[in-house]
Amino acid sequence: MSFFYRNGTLCAEQLPLDELARRFGTPCYVYSRAAIELAYAAYSSALAGREALICYSVKANPNLAVLSLMARLGAGFDIVSGGELARVLAARGDPGKIVFSGVGKTELEIEQALLAEIRCINLESEPELERVNAVADRLGRRAPVAFRVNPDVDAKTHRHISTGLKQNKFGVAYDDAERLYARAARMRNIEIYGIGCHIGSQLTDPAPFVEAAARIATLAARLEATGIPMAHIDLGGGIGINYRDESPPPVAEFIAGALAALGTNRSGLILDPGRSIVGNAGLLLTRIEYVKPGAAKSFLVVDAAMNDLLRPALYEAWHEVRAVREAPPGATPIAYDIVGPVCESGDFLARERQLVASAGDLLAVMSAGAYGMSMSSNYNSRPRAAEVLVDGEQAHLIRARETTEDLFALERILP
Ligand SMILES: *Cc1c(COP(=O)(O)O)cnc(C)c1O
Repeated sequence: MSFFYRNGTLCAEQLPLDELARRFGTPCYVYSRAAIELAYAAYSSALAGREALICYSVKANPNLAVLSLMARLGAGFDIVSGGELARVLAARGDPGKIVFSGVGKTELEIEQALLAEIRCINLESEPELERVNAVADRLGRRAPVAFRVNPDVDAKTHRHISTGLKQNKFGVAYDDAERLYARAARMRNIEIYGIGCHIGSQLTDPAPFVEAAARIATLAARLEATGIPMAHIDLGGGIGINYRDESPPPVAEFIAGALAALGTNRSGLILDPGRSIVGNAGLLLTRIEYVKPGAAKSFLVVDAAMNDLLRPALYEAWHEVRAVREAPPGATPIAYDIVGPVCESGDFLARERQLVASAGDLLAVMSAGAYGMSMSSNYNSRPRAAEVLVDGEQAHLIRARETTEDLFALERILP
């Protein structure tokens, strides 16, 4: 709905992508403001009437412009590093709405979080509890905490993005939670705010999400019975989007299921969605450098690569690829692998796609708004792509294309 063909040319809101390519160059990430706001609205309306906070998961797309959009919508933020904390503060996000997840928080990061007075540190181990208590003691503060509990449910998603099973590195074990909370409750510099979980990403079935909610609600009730307050329950993120034909049910259905599982529990609800806010709100615009026919396979060599969009190489993720100019009627499409210039066989964006294509044509790799730019690198000494946010008829350059000088600006030749 934010990306559609008009007069045979794919547009982002009101702007044709060929115009954006001329103006900003390729490869280039293009996001739709309306699509981001609509995705957020799906959460806020499904949560209407419940005390709730939507903490946008910064790692999905940490561009300052995206963060400031979220802040203006009233969102909080789920962060996983000191760098993300600094970004949220720079984008004028409310520190009182930040939750801090991750298994490896350093002393410095914990100190930064406490000084910024964030809402909650989600603890993922007992040594981390001890470290947070010690840092808070040194600073003369009380640290707001929750434990991320591993509910041991199978998210039934790709094994690399499943996080809620016993064998995953995330969270504390369900059976250990009561002992840990009891210990935390006795610590002088710890203040318990709640409990959390996050079972994985790209969930297309609400059942594991709802099951995790039920297990966490059961535990929360047991903890409250022992006098431990549960101001909030954080059910994580992970709701899936449509890349191909997954057709996950609407966000409202996941949330209705979770609310039903929480039953009479009246704690505030926190959700930390990332992909489902920005994933389908962005695309990667790329130009075909060469058409390379072959006996076994034909290739479109494009100017974007695995360093720009890692998901296909990393997870064998499937992204829809559209020609920016619609093919003329009657033209015969050919099956192509769409590959980048990086020196790795794993450097592909898509395989076996039927397209009518010539060198110089533009392609749009769809559903690239989440874990696209945020996972990009400079591999092969490729400057990172530009990022553009479209708002109606206006295009804002929200990250300039890196220059080749940027690539080695921090490096020094030996004296
Ligand atoms: C990554 C992450 C999320 C966001 O996951 P999505 O699949 O992008 O919604 C939420 N919570 C935590 C703790 C995470 O690590």
